[in-house]
Amino acid sequence: MVLQAVRQHSSPHLVGLAATHLQGLTRRDFVAGAALIDGRWTAGAQRDAVVDPATGEGIANFASCGASDMEAAIEAAEKSFLAWRQLLPASRGGILRCWASLMRDHLEELAILVTSEQGKPLAEARYEIAYGAGFLEWFAAEGERAYGETIPSHKPGSLLQVRMQPIGVAAAITPWNFPIAMITRKAGAALAAGCPVIVKPAPETPLSALALARLAEEAGVPRGVLQVVTGDPIELSAPLLRDPRIRALSFTGSTQVGRLLLEGAAATVKKVSLELGGHAPFLVFDDVCVAKAVKGAMAAKFATSGQDCLAANRIYVQRGIYRRFVEAFAAAMAELSTGHGLDPATDIGPMTKISVANKCRAQIDDAIAKGARRFSVRQDERLGANFVPPTLLSEVSDNMLIASEETFGPVAAVLPFDSEEEVVARANASEMGLAAYVYTDSLRRALRLSESIEYGMVGINTPSFTGPPIPFGGWRQSGLGREGSRHGIEEYMELKYVCFGDL
Ligand code: NAD
Repeated sequence: MVLQAVRQHSSPHLVGLAATHLQGLTRRDFVAGAALIDGRWTAGAQRDAVVDPATGEGIANFASCGASDMEAAIEAAEKSFLAWRQLLPASRGGILRCWASLMRDHLEELAILVTSEQGKPLAEARYEIAYGAGFLEWFAAEGERAYGETIPSHKPGSLLQVRMQPIGVAAAITPWNFPIAMITRKAGAALAAGCPVIVKPAPETPLSALALARLAEEAGVPRGVLQVVTGDPIELSAPLLRDPRIRALSFTGSTQVGRLLLEGAAATVKKVSLELGGHAPFLVFDDVCVAKAVKGAMAAKFATSGQDCLAANRIYVQRGIYRRFVEAFAAAMAELSTGHGLDPATDIGPMTKISVANKCRAQIDDAIAKGARRFSVRQDERLGANFVPPTLLSEVSDNMLIASEETFGPVAAVLPFDSEEEVVARANASEMGLAAYVYTDSLRRALRLSESIEYGMVGINTPSFTGPPIPFGGWRQSGLGREGSRHGIEEYMELKYVCFGDL
């Protein structure tokens, strides 16, 4: 079905490029498409196609598992829990480090997989593998630092302790935009905490997840402790939601699906962490060097071809430098080249899903109809409908769709503003609250805004701030909980208070 939909809009001149790269992989098992359930690689009675989003071409098949496969995975995970939690944190950490090291050893082959099924430029895929391995290394150490506390007692002759213990079996439902790093950020934390984890990857990007599972097995992750079950999201998430043995559920994806999962998890009161949509404001004040702000905005907008929850969605520029900013931004954007992610000249790849490309086009049409001005970079006419040319919309106003909903593609909306008070109110007026950016040369203003901007992550004069040590997560409907940092492991642990009396 997916295959057909994309093929109608294919780019015939690029057909075969991903398939040729995949054929060249020495790790043939990376493209076998078998799910890992209870220590066995399962090809699946039913198979689905992995599609190159640049061409619509089927490039591999993967197991389309059903509810009974997921139930078997839950059973196996539960069985593996006791032995895994009893391992010393340092031993679990050793396995995670070994897994990370195998990822780095196979960086090039993993990057080819990511680009072939997700579409991002190969250089960005390479970056993602290293970024993803970093979470395993980070949590390998955090597992050893999951300290409890001793509380000064309020009762004579007693000792009050708080311990952190693994919560139980965890489930990770992961997206297609970072098909490697979103798995290691969740699985690294769960495994370090002592929890087995079942990963349900996005059907668009199963190969990356399955290759990670191959390497985890080689690193010594025991049977049942990490499983990857591929297939239909609704069918596979139902057993995860209803089974009381799943104690933690971590999801990255749309706010719409996040709400459904939160509701579904209520019946068995699971610990839920959600990393959902963003709609990042990017504020540029007129005291700043325009070139520096443009460079930052380009990076914050076009990474992962715009398919990033941190992407700058509303670029607010103070009126005094608005024109200069728009011109410089258009000039910088004109340098971007759209194409297949495996072509080294490509800066912007295809949208992984046609629905994302169509949403970009709908936002552009809506903005033009309401008075915005458009500048689009020319792209090869043979590129199919999953490609969206980098587009700048200026004179954007708050009544346009792009000003109120996430774009998730290479479309930059630039809005003028007059005062700090006004722009802070507009920036904060969103249901989303993931990331925000501020460019200013005034230290006083930077300090004021770091307080008044109501977002989970704020970059001041920088477009990039993620990495294993930072608490990644959002306010409002952008999610619940945090990933990475010392807080990430807490999503997979329970606190236990113990009172020793009569001492
Ligand atoms: P999505 O939420 O549908 O998909 C994300 C994950 O959820 C995938 O694993 C998918 O298989 C699974 N899923 C989908 N429907 C499900 C259901 N009913 N029950 C259980 N699991 C389900 O996202 P999408 O439609 O692929 O993308 C749409 C939008 O979501 C994007 O435009 C973007 O706004 C947002 N998104 C955000 C992120 C992020 O990094 N926060 C990642 C991907 C998508």
